[in-house]
Amino acid sequence: MANTDAFPAMRCRMEYVCLGCGARYPADSLLYTCPLCGDVFLLENLDFAALKERPAASWRALFDNRAGSRATALRGVFRYYELMAPLLDEEDIVYLGEGATPVIEAAPALRAGVGLPFAYKNDGQNPSASFKDRGMACAFSYLKWLCRRNNWDEVLTVCASTGDTSASAALYAAYVGAPLKSVVLLPGGKVTPQQLSQPLGSGATVLELPGVFDDCMKVVEHLAENYRVALLNSKNSWRILGQESYAYETAQWYNWDVADLCLFVPVGNAGNITAIMSGFLKLRELGVITSLPRLFGVQSEHADPVYRYYAASPETRQWRPVRVRPSVAQAAMIGNPVSFPRVRALAARYISLGGEKAFQVVQVKEQQIMDAMLLANRHGHIACTQGGECLAGLQNALALGIIGRNERALLDATAHSLKFAGFQELYFTDGFGPEYGVTPDKTLANRPEALLCEEDRATLDDEAYTRRAARAMAARLRLSAK
Ligand SMILES: *Cc1c(COP(=O)(O)O)cnc(C)c1O
Ligand SMILES: [Zn+2]
Repeated sequence: MANTDAFPAMRCRMEYVCLGCGARYPADSLLYTCPLCGDVFLLENLDFAALKERPAASWRALFDNRAGSRATALRGVFRYYELMAPLLDEEDIVYLGEGATPVIEAAPALRAGVGLPFAYKNDGQNPSASFKDRGMACAFSYLKWLCRRNNWDEVLTVCASTGDTSASAALYAAYVGAPLKSVVLLPGGKVTPQQLSQPLGSGATVLELPGVFDDCMKVVEHLAENYRVALLNSKNSWRILGQESYAYETAQWYNWDVADLCLFVPVGNAGNITAIMSGFLKLRELGVITSLPRLFGVQSEHADPVYRYYAASPETRQWRPVRVRPSVAQAAMIGNPVSFPRVRALAARYISLGGEKAFQVVQVKEQQIMDAMLLANRHGHIACTQGGECLAGLQNALALGIIGRNERALLDATAHSLKFAGFQELYFTDGFGPEYGVTPDKTLANRPEALLCEEDRATLDDEAYTRRAARAMAARLRLSAK
């Protein structure tokens, strides 16, 4: 059998391709938007045709074998090296344990309640606890490659963030160290305390601005246009490449047969759904899969520009950013997604190959997001609010009849539930402001219950305290004596 630890020797030529004017630029320049027209890029492998010469079965075997590799450069998202950034060298690859996240079947009672088989892919089980690590592993590996080629001695990486991008960027920058340094820009008060603790703990320079994410995004874009910094938002096409690994892993997990699979993905800046479409399209082009899975983007009605675009009839469709309202799906609370041009371009290809029903966007209410997240987690899942959004999207798609009970679904739990514990707390304490429009179902509220009091602890000796506390527990739980 082939040595699965051997790093591939082949290298490909890559170029940025502008989605606006079609201009092309070499991959060894740090570019985010087209200098000619300002539109975003996708990266293209000029030697992709050569990949097609390898039989599909051989690709499948290669990726399956690498799943057991001990070479860290091939253990994470770069298991799919040839499909992502096949110009990097082994020494450039940064591996922090990202990717290969588990697919967890819905608990039996949850599945029965929802009415069709489905699973969560727990992307919150990445090192910084969100899927953003997939893209950062690729973007930082590319930066290392670039620094090496250019002998750069200091590079400032910057990003605007709804929380998870900065957590991930700061983590990878801290690990790589010199010449990289991380700066993150956050909308003040609009990331969760857990998310804020991450770049702080990683030692990044953390800057806050009044406003929402869209405001911060404009500032870092302006900065990247006028100063020497490396932008790590998903305008950075290298992140999109890394995030394609979600599609590759999904296809591999389902044994390269995703024909009857429906994926639900929350849409914020739209980098993730872009990457997932791009990944499945590449697999299809190589024949590694023979039909595309169906893809459902999900947006809250408080931040739904992509939903609105696709809800309009194809003739009257017009792209219009929206002004966001507060959303519990805070990581996706974006009114002007930078990757929208990528979504439009890839969705057109996706639909032309997979049919009208292959790509759709559903809308959900804030109330549904919270109810669905709590429902999932009460069944042993670890969904964040965006993972709740996906389950709400599945429930709405069932109600709309756009998914059948004979199909199966895979929901993207994009971050770990712990990052969004504050929204659970607001629900349990009925603390949501009116702007969210969330009224808790009081039967779901779960609070710690106090047993005994401080005075008991202070006045009783250890043995008496233990007995008193055990009696209090037995009474609370109505235990019968043995
Ligand atoms: C970033 C993020 C999203 C939104 O992904 P986009 O690529 O911006 O569409 C959703 N959920 C979580 C947890 C995120 O961190
Ligand atoms: Zn252009």
